[in-house]
This record gives sequence, structure tokens and C-alpha cells, in this order.
Amino acid sequence: MNHHTPCLPVVGAHTRVPLINGGSTTYANLDCAASAPALVAVQERVNQVLPLYASVHRGAGYLSQVSTALYEAARTSIGQHVGARADDVTIITRHTTDSLNLLAGCIPTNPDGTPGKVLVLDIEHHANLLPWQAASGGATVITAATTIRETLTQLRAELARDNYTLVAATGASNVTGEALPITELVDIAHAAGARIVIDAAQLVPHRGFSLTTSGADYVVFSGHKTYAPFGAGALVGRRDWLDAGHPYLAGGGAVHNVTLTTITWAPAPARHEAGSPNVIGAVALAAACEALGNLPAGELERHENVLRTRLVEGLSAIEGVRILRLWEDSCDPVGVVSFTVAQCDPGLVAAYLSAEHGIGVRDGRFCAHPLLTRLGVENGAIRASVGVGTTVDEVERLIAAVTQWVEQGSDATYDIINGCWAV
Ligand code: PMP
Repeated sequence: MNHHTPCLPVVGAHTRVPLINGGSTTYANLDCAASAPALVAVQERVNQVLPLYASVHRGAGYLSQVSTALYEAARTSIGQHVGARADDVTIITRHTTDSLNLLAGCIPTNPDGTPGKVLVLDIEHHANLLPWQAASGGATVITAATTIRETLTQLRAELARDNYTLVAATGASNVTGEALPITELVDIAHAAGARIVIDAAQLVPHRGFSLTTSGADYVVFSGHKTYAPFGAGALVGRRDWLDAGHPYLAGGGAVHNVTLTTITWAPAPARHEAGSPNVIGAVALAAACEALGNLPAGELERHENVLRTRLVEGLSAIEGVRILRLWEDSCDPVGVVSFTVAQCDPGLVAAYLSAEHGIGVRDGRFCAHPLLTRLGVENGAIRASVGVGTTVDEVERLIAAVTQWVEQGSDATYDIINGCWAV
């Protein structure tokens, strides 16, 4: 395959954006880890079902029945994409953050009545850290070592030392793109009698993931990072906790029967989906899952590996550029690369890339403050992330632009007072 071409077409690939010099250029979207552009296949599916849109699970009319069928078929498709087992539940949420908060409210108490505790590493996105700290049993946060091997040993030791109900781990870091060995993590958690949830927000868009194959208990991810817009995400996994857990939202649709003194809650997924469901969001996410699932085996990984390898190689050759890394030992990273440029404010570099080159990246601390502090980059970094629609040419544009910044500086200076660029 020609890797200069995207591996799946995305909407808006040729959008032109203004440049500070008065011209314009084609936008290079290297911020897929934040929100990925929708697939053309998603747009087509949404166009197809939007005219059929009506209330889900509530109406007797024909279109309500169609919408309900579409919503439930989307649920099945989303679950299948992450290898849901026959008795797993797929709950449609708003996004990864929502899914993790939902699960945090479903952690059971221990047989002695004490609330279940969660074990988590300090490399996590805040969405996979704060909900556990706020949960009734709280969380223990381990500072990861500089190798995966040693980090796994630390996890084993902590699980042997104290009683944990759940391990929460990222599938791939939203800062460095580096992955963790999921099956090993699953074995470690299960050997200690704990369950494990995988934050796959940065994994599902970039790699295949299966609950069945990995043995993980729960997986969460976001539609807007998986090439679908419209505020839908998912929590998929073991039924018992989700059936017994406190309903995430109280309201219509989550109950069997209500009197003025009693409520009979429905089992999952309805139990946690009160309110009118986001049918278009679910359908869009399902369409994205199906399109990704229909790619030839290994195609997504091959496409991203070409882009990531060139990104790392090109950026590392630039003087003063430091690529952020978690692990000294090897792993299978996804297409997310964060870097700093010596003596340069990441926000200024990112603004320059946008204003002078039409390149979209993210800068900041990526909702992973403890990790960036540990890596010694309290002032933040710049993150370039690729996806199915990214081309090698876009990666080359970034490398050339950062090289130009380092060699010549910018023609423009940033007017901090007025928040704009001045040439
Ligand atoms: N986990 C990871 C690894 C992420 O990258 C993100 C988004 N940056 C989240 C969780 C939260 O996702 P969302 O904002 O869609 O809830």
C-alpha cells in the first residue's frame, strides 16, 4: 500500500485554513488524539439515519421503532468491536470520562463491608485517576518505574500488600503513545483477585482490542477520538457490577416501576442510561467501529507505524527537540508523540505551527499533570498525533516547520497582551 494515502477517508481532509501572512493552506490535522476527524463512512451513515431519527425506547410510532432498532444494533456493534463476551454489557455513555465515572460508582464493597479500593499508576489521564480517588474506597497511585518490567513488579507487590477490587490502567498513553502489555496486566490483577478496566481512549482508535482475547473485565473509550463525532462513548464489560451498581443517572428509562415511596431499577444497560438516548451518536460510533473493524488485519497498525516512525525520526534529528518517553524497554506505541523544544514555550511553538503553517497540534499538560511533572516538563509539551486519515506529507510538514522554527525562529512575535500574532 502507498503510505502517502490515508488508510480510511475522513471528512474535511482538504479544509483550507488562513495563515498569518494573509494566505491559506490545507489544514494538517495532527491532533487526532484530542478529537479525530469523522470518517466519510460515519458521515454517510449519519446522513442515512438522520431522517429516521425519533425517540428511542419510548414511542410506538414506526420511526421510534426504527430508531430503537438502530440504537440497539449500534450497541451490539460497539460491543463486538471490543470483543464483548456473551454476558458482557455495553453501556452507551457520553465519553471515556463518563464511562469511568460510571464504573467508579459500581465498585462493590468487600465481604467485610469496607469499600473496594482501586490501584492505578501515575501515568494516567485525569479521567482515569480522579474518579477512582473520588470513589468511596479511594485509590492508591503508584509511581511507575522507568521500565515496564519493573512497573509490573511494583504492581504485583502492591496487589500482594493490600486488598484491591479494581486495577485501572491505560491501554496507550495519551502523552507518549506508549502502550502497556494488557494481557500481562490482566493476569497480574486476576492473580490477586482484582478486576481490571482498560482506558482504551487512545487504544481503540489505533489498535484492535478485545475483552475476550485479553481477558480484561472492562473497557472504556470515546467516539470523538474513534472517528465519530456526536458525544457518544462506551463502557463495556462484566454484567454483575453494572447490574448491582447505583444507577448513574436517576430518571426516565432507568427503572421498571416507580411509586411515590419505591423505585425498582432496571438492570444494566438501561439502569445507567436514564434520559433520552443519543441515538445518532451511538449509530455514528458503531459506523466508525465497523469501518475500523473492516480494515484488513494489521493495516491500521502498519499505517500508523510508518507515520510514527517518521515523526520520531524527523523530530529527534532537530537540535533541542526532546521526545517524551515513559519506558526504557520497548513497547508497541500508537501514533501519539509529545515533544519539547529547548528554551521554547510549547504554547508559542504550537501557535506558530498553526499561524504560519496551518498545522494543528495540541500543547499543554494533556490532562496528565502528575506524568508531565515526573517527566520534568511542568510547563507542558507539544503533542502531534496521527490517525487513519493522516498522510506522510502532513508529518513531513510538521518536521519541516519545527526545523524552521529552530533554525530561523518565527517571523512573527506573539502579542501576549492582545492575544494575537504580530509580524
Ligand atoms: N483517557 C485517555 C487516555 C485520553 O486520551 C482521554 C482524552 N484525552 C480521556 C481518557 C478522556 O476522554 P474524553 O475527554 O473523551 O472523556
